[in-house]
Amino acid sequence: MTVVAEVIEEYRRLVEEIARCTRCELHRFRRNPVPGEGPLDARVMVVGEAPGKKEDEQGRPFVGPAGQLLTRLLELAGLRRDRVYITNVVKCRPPGNRDPRDEEIEACLPYLIRQIQLIKPSLIIAVGRHAGRTLYRLAGLRWTSMTRLHGRVVEAVIAGRRVLLAVTYHPAAALYRPPIREELERDFSGPIAEAVRKIYSGGAGVPEESRQSSILDFLSPGRGSRSGGADDGEK
Ligand code: SF4
Repeated sequence: MTVVAEVIEEYRRLVEEIARCTRCELHRFRRNPVPGEGPLDARVMVVGEAPGKKEDEQGRPFVGPAGQLLTRLLELAGLRRDRVYITNVVKCRPPGNRDPRDEEIEACLPYLIRQIQLIKPSLIIAVGRHAGRTLYRLAGLRWTSMTRLHGRVVEAVIAGRRVLLAVTYHPAAALYRPPIREELERDFSGPIAEAVRKIYSGGAGVPEESRQSSILDFLSPGRGSRSGGADDGEK
């Protein structure tokens, strides 16, 4: 089996495991699991917090107004959404859009670790406090607060891989709060855009991967065709 076929096969297994998963009580509330979507050779991975109502209905991450804002923010950083792999720290929707609990994040963490090991991103952008806290913990870094840490890009080792790790607010938090939106736009157009430039030029001590350009875009099972980046719904 070629490397590409192995990656695709492993990803299929991962998605199937998530679909059958009962490791935490969130499985009781999901209509669809939301494993993530995007190219399996993406250099950039966005990690959010948890699926919301629309995501649960569609089985896709970051749909709706928050997803549309994420698409625009990625563009500010020089990224096309359909070249980014997007997922969450928990793959099933917490009831009533409540925050994911620590034990749920813990139960779901092995899936995120496997996604990082499989996709091998050079830059991980954690959006939202729970995503930031989780990625900092995986990196062995001390989390303080979003107010202090947003917009910082640090070198880190996560799931055995050297990456740049950026933390910023969740786009949903910015929908009705213009000051948060301004912070987000500053983070994406400033330090995150700089990190994107570094990884594409092979700088920042992040080793260039010899990548399999033929690895196909993979989408979550709730969607039948390739993503063009348009979204409906919200967290
Ligand atoms: S949130 Fe994660 S650990 Fe919990 S049931 Fe869903 S896939 Fe399993």
